[in-house]
Amino acid sequence: MFNMIHYKSKEEIEIMRESALVVSKTLAILAEHLEPGITPLQLDKIAEEYIRDQGAEPGFLGLYDYPNTIITSVNEQVVHGIPTDRPLEEGDIVGIDCGALMNGYYGDHAYTFAVGEIAPEVKQLLEVTKKSLYLGIEQMRAGNRLGDIGYAIQSYTESFGYGVVRELVGHGLGKKMHESPEVPNYGKRGRGQLLKEGLVLAIEPMINMGTRRVIQLSDGWTIVTADKRPSAHFEHDVALVDGKAEILSTFDFIEETLKKKGALVV
Ligand code: MG
Ligand code: MG
Repeated sequence: MFNMIHYKSKEEIEIMRESALVVSKTLAILAEHLEPGITPLQLDKIAEEYIRDQGAEPGFLGLYDYPNTIITSVNEQVVHGIPTDRPLEEGDIVGIDCGALMNGYYGDHAYTFAVGEIAPEVKQLLEVTKKSLYLGIEQMRAGNRLGDIGYAIQSYTESFGYGVVRELVGHGLGKKMHESPEVPNYGKRGRGQLLKEGLVLAIEPMINMGTRRVIQLSDGWTIVTADKRPSAHFEHDVALVDGKAEILSTFDFIEETLKKKGALVV
């Protein structure tokens, strides 16, 4: 049935942790190479090579006919930005979303990077979006409902005047990249699907500095903000284990790399 949620055993969750880790390490490799002047297409090649070296397959390549390994959403691009040969510039932000398939299970997560120095208001957008992800994750516990996750993300980010994208949402994750349920970044406390042991979700706030309204470009993929102001996106893979959230992916490798380079860590 289309709406069926596939709850995972602890063994499956351990396998999924490996898939998530491939993505975490891929993003860290990209963090190393991320400098003004590099192109998203160059990053895409690096990512594909690294994922295959780990014995995994790129999770997005070919999915719904998507043409690349990573998704690179620059500045006003919210998500689904196709890598191009336009070099990244000082002051840009780039959300890199990456998927990997290993041992039959997907990992899928994302981090928004600063390219060189960025404006203080953009830095705040990154900080708030990342924090909202963790506030959402905190709500993933036995007895809570999906709406508690969305409410936590929405109430925090809207308190800064930011717009929460409605058209795109997080999702269940497992043998398929996109499983039930949908995980909106907005919602009402105590509403929606009950959260149960073995649920694995990709939680992924997409937060706009200005209006929440978005437009899809004519390439059929790229989603941009309607007011062209920047947007940020952070994503983790999270399992409900022993009644609490367990984050399967990690930003640790990315942030160690950024610190070593002296780059911004939000
Ligand atoms: Mg993703
Ligand atoms: Mg996702």
